[in-house]
Order: sequence, then C-alpha cells, then structure tokens
Amino acid sequence: MSNLEVEGSNPSPDTFSPKGVPMKLDLHLHSEFSWDSKVKIKEYVNQAQNLGFSAISITDHNSIESHSALDSLQDKTDVILLPGQEVSTSDGHLLVYGFVDLAPQGLSMKETINSIKGDPICIAAHPFDPFRGGSFSKVFQSGIDGIELLNASSWFHFPNYLASRAYSKQSTVEIGLGNSDSHNLMEFGSAYSVSESQLTLNMENLKEILTRSLPAGSRIGWRRKISRFAKRKLS
Ligand SMILES: [Zn+2]
Ligand SMILES: [Zn+2]
Repeated sequence: MSNLEVEGSNPSPDTFSPKGVPMKLDLHLHSEFSWDSKVKIKEYVNQAQNLGFSAISITDHNSIESHSALDSLQDKTDVILLPGQEVSTSDGHLLVYGFVDLAPQGLSMKETINSIKGDPICIAAHPFDPFRGGSFSKVFQSGIDGIELLNASSWFHFPNYLASRAYSKQSTVEIGLGNSDSHNLMEFGSAYSVSESQLTLNMENLKEILTRSLPAGSRIGWRRKISRFAKRKLS
C-alpha cells in the first residue's frame, strides 16, 4: 500500500516498474448497452489502443450484451478485452469479470457471488459511495476479491478516501483497483490500474495480475462531468 496513488496526486506509474512497461487496465466502462451511456464498444477499443492500455472491460449495468461484440473485436486489436458486467446487488454494485452468463440482480453481494459458478473475479464498485448504494465496510465480509479504491466518476473525494483507508486496515481482500467508470469516451482512462506483473494478460492470470496492481489517475470531478454532460446535450 505504500505506493498507493490517490486521486488528486500526479502519478507517474511508469516509474515504479523497472522491469518493463507496466500494464494499464481500465476495467469499469459503460457502453451503449447501459441505459446511461451511448459509447460504442469499438470506440473504447480504439481509444484504449491509442492510449496504450493493455486491457479493458465493458461492465454494463446488468447486461452482458457487450460480450459478443468483444469476441468479434478481439482479433482486430492488441488490447485484451475482458468480459465483464456491473451487477446491482442489495449491497451496492458488483463488478464481475470472467462470468459469461448474466448474474442475478437484487440479491445480497454474498448471495450474488455464491450464485456465480466458475472462478470469476468479483470487485465491489465504489463501495464507500453512499449516493451509489455503497455498503461501506460490510463488503469485506461478502466474499469479494477486491474493491475499487479510485473510482474516477465519484462526484466527491470522500468515497475514494474512505475506501483507501478501510482497505489499508483490513487483510481479507488483496485487490484495490483504479477505474474510470466511464460513461462517455472522454472519461475513458481518467483512472485505471497499473500492474507490474510479468504474467501473460488473460482471464486465467487476471487475479494475480490485479493483486499486483495499484490505482493511478484522478477523479473526473463534478465540474468536468457537468460540462461534458452539457456539451453532449447540446451536440
Ligand atoms: Zn456503479
Ligand atoms: Zn459503473
């Protein structure tokens, strides 16, 4: 945790991995298959390629419609496209990677995780954000693999601050991610995770890679969010 980059800092993630180019991952993106986004998956893939990202995951709200699009785009890009979804549970939003079926909605986070077969990776999204259903420290007892420490779309600083503080005081989960939670292409990559792992990036190795990752980037902030929202409305 000593190298943890927190929002508002000016991280230079390339400096802490002397072994080679670190992986950059933004694993919380919303596409046209979410009710609150219009971004096409291909646009995210192109942007990820242009910005040097190693992997992305489209995590639409209670939807896996992105998965077939990702399958068809994977041959055309070096960016690893990981199947994801953001599940609404009674304890807040849960990011699920590597589960190809649609997870049930409305259960507790623990019940949701228990209902998912195979070995998907489950990350509590913005768990300390009371405005987005966060259930605070309760998530650490729900069987999750990790939490978001830096969610760039949090309107306020304190949910990320509380997440980092609680994460550093517990030893149950070992993954702390940075994600943009982008709903618009300009927000892509504003926060992300950087891993110095040398493993091949695929679903099989993802848990190990994320265990060796740190959040980087910064929160988008409500001023930029409002101005982008206004521009989108006017366009
Ligand atoms: Zn969410
Ligand atoms: Zn989200």
